[in-house]
Amino acid sequence: MADRSLRGMRLGASSLQSEEGVVFHERANHTYVCTECGRETVMTFAADAEVPEAWECRTCGAEAALRVGDTTVVVDHSGDKVARTHWDMLLERRTVPELEELLEERLALLRARRGEGGRLSA
Ligand SMILES: [Zn+2]
Repeated sequence: MADRSLRGMRLGASSLQSEEGVVFHERANHTYVCTECGRETVMTFAADAEVPEAWECRTCGAEAALRVGDTTVVVDHSGDKVARTHWDMLLERRTVPELEELLEERLALLRARRGEGGRLSA
């Protein structure tokens, strides 16, 4: 009982809510220069945030590189986790001629199953 009322008083007295809301985080503007159209995209980040090297150009959607001083950073894509598609993974195991062969096999199977004299479309 006593504990609960104490806690209640503390909450009211220190007004956590307004304290949280009033703190201004330092911000920093960073300019990205588009690699395609050359236009600048200015982004605001929290000052302590890790600023990405590249951003999407607001004008054309291409990649814009972070400007540092008079120049822009060279965006290093070597470490990118490139999202591989199923197709990419497939190509790592099969060559296109192999795939074509497989496709033919499957098509032949389909045709046989349909029993329509080898025609896929009726
Ligand atoms: Zn652009």
